Amino acid sequence: MERKEKDHLNLVVIGHVDSGKSTTTGHLIYKLGGIDERTLAKLEEKALELNKASFKYAFVLDNLKAEQERGITINCALRQFDTPSRSYTIIDAPGHKDFIKNMITGTSQADAAVLIIAAKKGEFEDGFSREGSTKDHALLAYTMGIKQAIVAINKMDTIDYDEERFNEIVENVSDHLGKIGYKKGNVKYIPISGFDGDNMMEQSENLPWFKGPTLTEALDEFKVPKRPIKKPLRIPIQDVYKIAGIGTVPVGRVETGVLKRGMEVQFTTGATSEVKSLEAHHNKLEEAEPGLNVGFNVRLEAKEIKAGHVCGDAKNDPPKNAESFIAQVIVMNHPGHIKAGYQPVLDIHTAHVATKFKTLLSKNEARTGKLIEEAPKFLKNGESGIVELVPTKPLCVEEFSKYAALGRFVIRDMKRTVAVGVIQEVIHKKETKK
Ligand code: GDP
Repeated sequence: MERKEKDHLNLVVIGHVDSGKSTTTGHLIYKLGGIDERTLAKLEEKALELNKASFKYAFVLDNLKAEQERGITINCALRQFDTPSRSYTIIDAPGHKDFIKNMITGTSQADAAVLIIAAKKGEFEDGFSREGSTKDHALLAYTMGIKQAIVAINKMDTIDYDEERFNEIVENVSDHLGKIGYKKGNVKYIPISGFDGDNMMEQSENLPWFKGPTLTEALDEFKVPKRPIKKPLRIPIQDVYKIAGIGTVPVGRVETGVLKRGMEVQFTTGATSEVKSLEAHHNKLEEAEPGLNVGFNVRLEAKEIKAGHVCGDAKNDPPKNAESFIAQVIVMNHPGHIKAGYQPVLDIHTAHVATKFKTLLSKNEARTGKLIEEAPKFLKNGESGIVELVPTKPLCVEEFSKYAALGRFVIRDMKRTVAVGVIQEVIHKKETKK
């Protein structure tokens, strides 16, 4: 399998509505994806029939999405595309309603972000200058550990490929990304037309003044994150399928360690099983390394396993539920004050569990951790503190320093992101009773 040997990256595509996320990603999948010619021809025909030729690329993506939703395909290969040196998965289909929630679940753990910004007069101003969601998403991406990004300034065709306008947008966006924490060297700005194809795969003649890489070249310049293969296994479960003739197939992304056929796995419920088989991208595998979304067949009842459970190696530090945990939280957007007793839903890996703020231990400076106040009465917007949290239902969390993907969370309340957190210490029950 050629794909297995290539470096693989998960990308998340961020941007204001109508900035061109579907068009641009559709274009990449269309040109570089593993879709066969016949499917493409059919989709193209259909788009023409519906008089939607102008939507060709977005249409491809929409149709693929619909097909994925209908089917029971595990981790659809249709969101994949390959360059000669890499394979990419677009996680979280653009335009998804609950992007933030998705972003913190295992499915949406991205290695890098592509931020699409429309250069068109008025559109950039609408999408970015005001309190658009783009800024929130960029902040969240950074908080969740996505430190490298491409900013594609899209729809250059609508502004006559104007260099000055491009520079003005870059200045604005880079100023903001800098404030969030993005280092200059980790963000690339590229003028493109996701629709016409300028600077997508080939240097555009319409943009002779731009000396940087094309979008695909820039993707290939992303650093491949180190895969934590030496750590004990952790797979937060996204979903569980019951497949006729096969049996129970939990699905999730391997965060750390290596899942192997024949291995004895253990779930946070305490249930154990041999792994009978595993597959990803419709290929049977002997083992799966971090970053891969796998489905694996176990000898357990499907109802014994649920989304939010975590799977590990029964013989090497199997995952356990936490009694409580200590975390640093940063309050981003809470209408009032966060006090002890507050019990919002916490989104962590693939779990969503009501969790209580038991004690506010201290108030600290967000960046440096410097102590401001011990045992504060409350924490409000812009403030950061160390707190003890108690989940109201069985929940597996880990220290961020050991298992990053299981050690950071988002608190959503009243449909907004109220706070984000990083776990410093986990307190386990002495005896786990089921
Ligand atoms: P999304 O909401 O961010 O996914 O945006 P879409 O991809 O659906 O695009 C929104 C609209 O902008 C559609 O009408 C696209 O055809 C159009 N569009 C997208 N990219 C370009 C581009 O590069 N140039 C022009 N002129 N239009 C574009």
